[in-house]
This record gives sequence, structure tokens and C-alpha cells, in this order.
Amino acid sequence: MSVRRKLIAGNWKMNGSRAQLAELSAIAAAAREAAGVDVAICPPFTLISLAAARAGGLAIGAQDCHQSDSGAHTGNVSAPMLKEAGARLTIVGHSERRADQHESDALVSAKAQAAIRHGLRTIVCVGESEADRAAGRAGKVVSAQLSGSLPDPEGDGEMVVAYEPIWAIGTGKSATTADVAEMHALIRAHLIDNFGDRGGRIRILYGGSVKAENAAELFAVDNVDGALVGGASLTAEQFVPIIQAAA
Ligand code: PEP
Repeated sequence: MSVRRKLIAGNWKMNGSRAQLAELSAIAAAAREAAGVDVAICPPFTLISLAAARAGGLAIGAQDCHQSDSGAHTGNVSAPMLKEAGARLTIVGHSERRADQHESDALVSAKAQAAIRHGLRTIVCVGESEADRAAGRAGKVVSAQLSGSLPDPEGDGEMVVAYEPIWAIGTGKSATTADVAEMHALIRAHLIDNFGDRGGRIRILYGGSVKAENAAELFAVDNVDGALVGGASLTAEQFVPIIQAAA
């Protein structure tokens, strides 16, 4: 049995409304039942404090955080602000932000460092494009992202890595278990090389079209310590079976 508890984190992206927070009660109930699993939901910023107020033990998180604590950064939200709103974790470096907001590895690392410094569990995302995989450079691309994006994991917050092949996000095409095993082993080796024993304790999530049907086989793969789930985290009906598969 793995020394690392499974973490199942839902990323609502730019979806959700006050009405949708009704889904949280059934998700929280499933999380309480799944005693050995950590469960989190990351709604849009606007819903964090409302979600945290009715989370019932479920961890509520953000989808991004600015690298500075405060200042002239219109439209951004900092780690201390997230904490005050009730967030216990944040995602950084999601491929949609790397593409849409042109976030570099260095920026992702600075954001992660700020979040960890403020005690947030911080999910740092990496993953190759379809073209990278087709050209046989998936491992090289992910290694470079790890070298550039991972902060020093020392701090009150926990660092978590999410491997999310871009071509599998929101497409219904999940990576094969063989591809996942190979990439998670590469990530584990990188973590141990860079952080020693501590690298063996860092959780590595898989993300990319995880659903009830493929969750159990993905969770059985070595070094898969849970999942970052997009589409299937929006309703309890789809998300609860994924939590149960990890238990
Ligand atoms: C994600 O948004 O991180 C993700 C993995 O999305 P989906 O599960 O919809 O592929």
C-alpha cells in the first residue's frame, strides 16, 4: 500500500453558480465516507467563500493565485486573499492558463512558491501537447516543465504535481495506463533527484478525461496518487464514483 494518501481534486474551471453549490453536499458526504482519501473542489474565485461555508469538511481551493501578496495587479488574487476566503489549496500552471495567459515556467514556479509560503496545498500542473507526444518528446517537455515550474517545496503548504497531457484534457481521450505509468515514473525520479526522500512523499495526480469508467484502472497505476478532474467534477453524480474508486 502506498504511503501517499490519494487526493481527488475537482477543477470547475469557468463553470458554476450559486445554484451549483448544491452539488457539494453529496460530494462532501462521499468524501467523509472515503476515510483514506483527500477530496477538494476548486470553483471559480467568486464562489470560494460561499463554497467554503458549506463545504462540510471538503477542502475548497482556487484555480490560480498571484505570485505577490498585494499590489497593483488588476484582476488578480493573491494567496493571503484566497486563504481569507476559505481556500485551503490552489492549482497553478494549468495548461489552459499557460496557453491563454501565456504563463511561463518561471511564473508558475513563483506562484507556487507564494502559495506554499502561505500554507496552501499547491497543485502544479505539467503536461505535453499532442504534437510533443507525436514527435516523441513528451518526456523531454515534461522534464523541462518540472525543472522550471517546481518551487522549493519547503514551507507550510504542500506541493503536489499534476501530470495532465494537454491532448487528454476535456477531449474524452485519456492517456493509456502504460503512458501514465511511464510519465509518473519519470516525474517520481525527477522529484527524488531534486528533493531526496521528500520527493518520494510528494503526490502525483493524473488529469485528463478521468471519469467513473477509467478511474479505478488509473488509480491502480504505480505513482498515481489521485486525480485532477475537470468536466466530471461538476456534478456529484459523476464525481462521487471517482472518489469511491480511490477509496
Ligand atoms: C482539467 O481541467 O484539469 C482536466 C483534467 O479536465 P477534464 O477532466 O475535463 O479532462
